[in-house]
Amino acid sequence: MFGKKNRKPLGLYIHIPFCKSKCDYCDFCSFVPNNKGVVEHYTDALILQMEDWSSRCRNYSVDSVYIGGGTPTYLDIRRIARIIDAAYSNFKIEKNAEFTIECNPATADYEYFKKLRRLGVNRLSIGCQSTHANELKALGRIHSFEQFKACFEDAREAGFDNISVDLMYGIPEQTEQSFIETLTAIASLGPEHISLYALKIEDNTPFAAMRDKLVLPDEEAEYSMYSHAVEYLATRGYERYEISNFCRDGAASLHNLKYWHCDDYLGLGAGAHSYFEDERFSTTRVVRDYIDGLEIIGSDINIVASSEKIDSAECMDEYVMLGMRLAEGIVVADFEKRFNTSFAEKYGYRFDEYLEEGFIIKDETGYRFSSKGMFVSNYILSDVLELGE
Ligand code: SF4
Repeated sequence: MFGKKNRKPLGLYIHIPFCKSKCDYCDFCSFVPNNKGVVEHYTDALILQMEDWSSRCRNYSVDSVYIGGGTPTYLDIRRIARIIDAAYSNFKIEKNAEFTIECNPATADYEYFKKLRRLGVNRLSIGCQSTHANELKALGRIHSFEQFKACFEDAREAGFDNISVDLMYGIPEQTEQSFIETLTAIASLGPEHISLYALKIEDNTPFAAMRDKLVLPDEEAEYSMYSHAVEYLATRGYERYEISNFCRDGAASLHNLKYWHCDDYLGLGAGAHSYFEDERFSTTRVVRDYIDGLEIIGSDINIVASSEKIDSAECMDEYVMLGMRLAEGIVVADFEKRFNTSFAEKYGYRFDEYLEEGFIIKDETGYRFSSKGMFVSNYILSDVLELGE
């Protein structure tokens, strides 16, 4: 029914919930497996889930694949190869699709990277967070900056010419000076992409339990770190294209752009989230339930943790909330084409107030945050969207 040309684009996310050790701030769906059996069963279950979804995605063309975690490179290359082969067998993955895998230093070497390249992976996202030993230790990270550098160099040598590095600010013991040193060292390596997130103390993490004892930079120091990062990275050729993401030479993450543009993506694996055909749903974070639900035929274990149909009002709010995270902001013509609704009538008047205060900029294409607006964007958006209903 759908010719190749008419297939709709789709992002595919695959979650690997295993790590070598659990970082103290982490509330992602990840754990340290206590036996190899669970890893093998999980791989089998993931492939079964791909087979289940295969026919529903016949009319989609996958233009981005993202294997995230956890630590996907915790899996040996044979298992990763099984998962990637299954993705190619069950989905129509475009020849030039962006294909990312997350990686932690000291979990992959030159040979591993070389094999990933042969399997079609063309983008790496490596977690570094800081270049300082005391900060890495305070976060509970198990690698050193030297291991990160070795990993980065191995990846380059193996042919990865699109590498993203994750960094954090607001880390215990971090100072403005140590943050500047981290930024300088990472920019000198020249990754194509940098993601920079503020540390958040999430419930049910070791950090939440020791919240009162953590020596954290205050809000003013955090603001100064973030502003410095934006200015400094611009001098090194990195454009901020989203609140927390910077790239050079146009190497924005196509996969993440799908999230911010409210485009369809399908998440497979425990704890994965999807936005597919106007429905938002997620899979159970309980790995045992996930495996049992897929492996035991006739099992009544439901692997769906949540699901909701998104109506058009919610969809508009989400589009604005996520789109405003981008440096380009909301392109009014795109909004009106998609929703057949006047942007000015629905939201414009609320933006005008922040426009006068210099938090938002309006030009001939639409609305976007100014630099000072970006830092307080969450507050502004919750105000705009609450009153925009
Ligand atoms: S490596 Fe990443 S996913 Fe694993 S525990 Fe640390 S922060 Fe969480």
